[in-house]
Amino acid sequence: MAAVPDKILTWQMVQPTTRDKETGEVVPGKIEKAEIPVPDLSPGEVLVEIAGCGVCHTDLGYFYDGVPTVSKPPLTLGHEISGTVVAGDQPWVGKEVIIPAVMPCRKCILCKTGRGNRCLAQLMPGNSTGVYGGFSSHIPVPSIDLCEVKERGDIPLSHLAVVADAATTPYQAAKRADLQPGDNVVVVGITGGVGQYVGQMAKALGAKTVIGIARNPEKLERALQYGADFVINSTDKDARAVSGDFRGICKGNGLPNTGWKIFEVTGTKAGQDIALTLLGFTGKLVVVGYGLAKTEYAIGRLMAFDADIIGTWGCLPEYYPIVLDMVLSGKINIEAFVETRPMSSIVETFAEAHKTPPMKRIVLKPDF
Ligand SMILES: [Zn+2]
Ligand SMILES: [Zn+2]
Repeated sequence: MAAVPDKILTWQMVQPTTRDKETGEVVPGKIEKAEIPVPDLSPGEVLVEIAGCGVCHTDLGYFYDGVPTVSKPPLTLGHEISGTVVAGDQPWVGKEVIIPAVMPCRKCILCKTGRGNRCLAQLMPGNSTGVYGGFSSHIPVPSIDLCEVKERGDIPLSHLAVVADAATTPYQAAKRADLQPGDNVVVVGITGGVGQYVGQMAKALGAKTVIGIARNPEKLERALQYGADFVINSTDKDARAVSGDFRGICKGNGLPNTGWKIFEVTGTKAGQDIALTLLGFTGKLVVVGYGLAKTEYAIGRLMAFDADIIGTWGCLPEYYPIVLDMVLSGKINIEAFVETRPMSSIVETFAEAHKTPPMKRIVLKPDF
């Protein structure tokens, strides 16, 4: 069994990238190797030896795009974590776990009314758990929300880090959408780190048809093997043109033009315009992607269409075991979508992922 360390070794974000408002000058951010003390664990807390931590778009937003973290730098980023408990709460010691990306407070009105995924006092590693984050050797976290990993077969524990965020967010989104077997689904942004799991999740939960929309032909081709029945390449097309393709698929395959559940995962104006254009009679649009773009829509159409637009955030920890089961039983494939690298490549990996979205989710493995 792994021992309790003397120190936590970590890759700290000393400062994020900043832009001088007047001169427009960009000051590059800094991520540096550091040693921090192992904190005293309170009752109900554990220390997890990290097996892997996924590089999420959110981390890149904190480092490059001025998205503020709740705990001020220096702090360690990373919230997509799997590992092994090495100290603390006794019943957990020695167990392999996934740490939920969002841990509700369990005390507030949102938590008490089943909306804990959007608890305002929630803890998120690499954002609001003090200096601690996933790009480290170890992390202290509350034990109450941990998801135990049992019988993982050949799947490396490090790969299961993606369950902490990319694979679970789509489950919560499907719950919000009230996704039912037989539903017809569109995923706008099906090639993204989260989007491809939205497609797989919809199919695994019994969707009759999944139509994926995105731009990267290679990734669209892959989506057809993992959840999507049809894909539309939206490169150089406006929302109307995409809608024309969509109607063509419906007509050609005897699919209805009502009741579609549309998941918008890009968070971009182009994606949102497509999603809004596709929203039809008795349809439901679920906003999964985040962005600051503004888009225009005649909301009176919702009345005429008897339609819904809703948002979704994170995933309740109680759903994690369900999603983990779906992964371990092969209903959701993660192996085709994960790549591991040594954690010491963090600076280059961030730069690369920021420049071009990678084909696979990059999970960094501690190599201090
Ligand atoms: Zn994330
Ligand atoms: Zn709460």
